[in-house]
Amino acid sequence: MRLILLGPPGAGKGTQARMLSELAGVPQVASGDLLRAAVREKTALGVKVAGILERGDLVPDEMVVKLIEKRLDAPDARKGFILDGFPRSVPQAELLGAMLKGRGAAIDRVLAVMVPDEEIVKRISGRRTCRNCQAMYNVIFDPPRKPDACDKCGGELYQREDDAEATVRHRLEVYNATTRPLLDYYAGAGILARIEGVGRPEEVERRMIKALGGLIPANAKPGMSH
Ligand code: AMP
Repeated sequence: MRLILLGPPGAGKGTQARMLSELAGVPQVASGDLLRAAVREKTALGVKVAGILERGDLVPDEMVVKLIEKRLDAPDARKGFILDGFPRSVPQAELLGAMLKGRGAAIDRVLAVMVPDEEIVKRISGRRTCRNCQAMYNVIFDPPRKPDACDKCGGELYQREDDAEATVRHRLEVYNATTRPLLDYYAGAGILARIEGVGRPEEVERRMIKALGGLIPANAKPGMSH
């Protein structure tokens, strides 16, 4: 199954991609995670993009595409993948289409998670990430058992710099101007399904599995991965 999850920052794409990845047995490939790892490890790419990520602007296409191409060529992604955060513009979608075509493959389905802007701002400003294992929490919707400590590994929880409210609003503008046109692009290709993204994560997951139809094994049950 080759799947793209589309949606504004904070729509829950990461959480949903992880759940679907477990159900379908294909890896989640999150461009933001790959870029943040490059920044942490101070690779040549990481040094170049650190400031761009901090501002909430988009990294140049050729840099992201190279990173994604390398990840999709790894053995575990050969049977399929769930893309989260990529593509983020029509040119990126075209580059992805050409890359897959060259490998005799294509995207099966695109799920667009729809969440209103004000809900996004509320959600993201409560988001916290573990410095050690990158697990995510939300102080309002999904709080850790101990404030500021990760339930899984005890690591310190922090707020991403690009999760501050002003940056979130800027990222939403970037999404609406550059990424939203992908909805029409993939609707035109006949592979887009829009998913209502407001509600409990299990409800959203159920809607997604329904929209995926036969692409997910018939015995997969919503909430199985919790
Ligand atoms: P995310 O974790 O998906 O919200 O991504 C965090 C940041 O990484 C974004 O605000 C961008 O600066 C950068 N980024 C992630 N994916 C892409 C992409 N496909 N194209 C350009 N920049 C990206």
